[in-house]
Amino acid sequence: MSLPRKVTILGSTGSIGTSTLDLFERAGVELEVVGLTAGRNVARLAEQALRWRPRVAVVEDETQLAELRERLQGSGIQAAAGAKAVEEIAAEEAQWVMSAIVGFAGLAPTLAAARTGAIIALANKESLVCAGPALLRTAKRAGGVVIPVDSEHSAIFQVLDPSAAEHVKRLILTSSGGPFRDATRAQMAAATLEQALAHPNFSMGAKISIDSATMMNKGLEVIEAAYLFSMPPERIDVLVHPQQIIHSMVEYADGSTLAQMGPPDMRPPIACAFAWPDRLPWPAPHLDLVTAGPLTFQHPDPEKFPALAIAKRALLAGGRAPAAMNAANECAVAAFLNRRIAFLDIPNIVAETLERMDRIPDPTRPDDDAVQSANQTDAEARRVAGEVVTRKFAA
Ligand code: NAD
Ligand code: MG
Repeated sequence: MSLPRKVTILGSTGSIGTSTLDLFERAGVELEVVGLTAGRNVARLAEQALRWRPRVAVVEDETQLAELRERLQGSGIQAAAGAKAVEEIAAEEAQWVMSAIVGFAGLAPTLAAARTGAIIALANKESLVCAGPALLRTAKRAGGVVIPVDSEHSAIFQVLDPSAAEHVKRLILTSSGGPFRDATRAQMAAATLEQALAHPNFSMGAKISIDSATMMNKGLEVIEAAYLFSMPPERIDVLVHPQQIIHSMVEYADGSTLAQMGPPDMRPPIACAFAWPDRLPWPAPHLDLVTAGPLTFQHPDPEKFPALAIAKRALLAGGRAPAAMNAANECAVAAFLNRRIAFLDIPNIVAETLERMDRIPDPTRPDDDAVQSANQTDAEARRVAGEVVTRKFAA
């Protein structure tokens, strides 16, 4: 088995980042760590750095540099800070880069890593949503590859035979349904932050937890799947599957449906992205279908989860719509996390931002640099969403 040795982990202190390092620890793989990066959590970053001995540890928040330096003093590990430094370490030569920064902030470092030709293990779905075709093209041109870590896309990646792509009838993404799967719309209208953060099966970062509660996470994943697997929106469906044992399915023209199964745990999809096409022996309990109990499925309720339709519309509209939707969603989620708006305001803010953006001429041109366009759209949509939040919802 030939596993990557030289690795970088972008967003090492988050939920996916710590699961990645935990997997490496348990599987006992030998690594040369080039870089570890964090947004703000220097205590965890320094602890990880002292264990994994990267050449550089980077914290995005520059006010934390002094503390990071102090914690790493005498270790020989270089400390750095700032968004540029995150991008620089992502651009250093490595065989495998875990892209696990949350949000649009992950795009520039992920692209920098893709330009080196490294294998990109992609958890940061927002970068695909905002610049999917450009990111995939960049990786391919550099001789690299993007392997999805998102469990649904990892599932499809494992069961979709690229040589039989023309025989695929549709992709079926599964969703837990989030904490409000069985709630009424009235209960959702009154939902507290704590209720929205309480995902039934996973402990994840705050942003993706709220995205799971609104099902915007699944909306982002529909766009992610469309780009990764070159599939039109009408051939991507979503099914609510509360047990999260089947991670997604591919239905073929002849009536055969292939599903990928596993425990509801992110470490197996991370292991898959690390060892592919080999398999890393997984030392934790494997799936036991007898104890997993019955597997159930239902259609998502469009009244309760309008985010799904918003995302499909943005994908169909194309151009800057997916990036604008993502930015509006990041703004709305931040406002909800800061207790400025109510839970059901989130999809309303996203929808209204997209409507307003439609009325603002798009300054970008098709031959513009994709990152530049994404940056422009992101900034403009954040400005508009910020206005919507302030004027309409937090008056
Ligand atoms: P998280 O909030 O737990 O961690 C995010 C990481 O990014 C942390 O290391 C944080 O310090 C860093 N970070 C935050 N802002 C930053 C910035 N501006 N610049 C640089 N670094 C920054 O998030 P998570 O749950 O680990 O999710 C990470 C990504 O993976 C997201 O895009 C999410 O959608 C995706 N994902 C997560 C899961 C999961 O189970 N958690 C599953 C599938 C996909
Ligand atoms: Mg997912």
